[in-house]
Amino acid sequence: MNQPLIIALTKGRILKETLPLLAAAGIEPVEDISKSRKLIFDTTDPAVQLLVIRGSDVPTYVKHGVADMGVSGKDMLLEVGGADLYELLDLEISKCRLMTAGIKGAALPQGRVKVASKFTNIAKRYCAERGLQAEIIKLYGAMELAPIMGLADLIVDIVDTGNTLRANGMEPLDLIADVSSRLVVNKAAMKMKHQRIEQVVEKISAAVVAKR
Ligand code: AMP
Repeated sequence: MNQPLIIALTKGRILKETLPLLAAAGIEPVEDISKSRKLIFDTTDPAVQLLVIRGSDVPTYVKHGVADMGVSGKDMLLEVGGADLYELLDLEISKCRLMTAGIKGAALPQGRVKVASKFTNIAKRYCAERGLQAEIIKLYGAMELAPIMGLADLIVDIVDTGNTLRANGMEPLDLIADVSSRLVVNKAAMKMKHQRIEQVVEKISAAVVAKR
């Protein structure tokens, strides 16, 4: 039985940068993903299907083997833990930085610090490594609002140009990690579908090098 290779992709801005790499590897969705409400797409390679899902769900689908491979931001891998899957390739797209940020010039309070983020595991690890006593507050968006409104002293967030922070009177502080999208593979699939995964990885790898 030749089951299709299933690749989970992160929807949104990462998808726009991922599709050209896949196209260079001979994998193109047969319909326009941006104009469809579907979540599963056939491709020009009859042996490959694409899932288009939230970035935070990609590692989960790949870990459980529902998808054989996935494209995930390093931020998501750090947040949900990438230990159960193979991180094979840095796709060198969607580059940004995971940083702490606070109100410009503001000193941290003595004692317990309030840290807001959607990356609560990363925030916890960051505080633990620095011996910061912290209360971690989970947010789902608009992290910049938290210090302005007094909900938090620090945020842990994605920074690209820094414009969002500056526009809200904040400044980037510590660099936690450089982020880019990674090609991840389910460990069992790597054994069972080794040859086909290897072929796809080689082609995508060549596309990454050609794009440099
Ligand atoms: P910037 O104002 O350019 O620093 O962009 C910051 C905002 O854009 C952040 O709050 C993120 O939500 C989003 N962002 C920028 N780059 C990325 C990326 N590569 N992946 C995910 N979100 C990003």
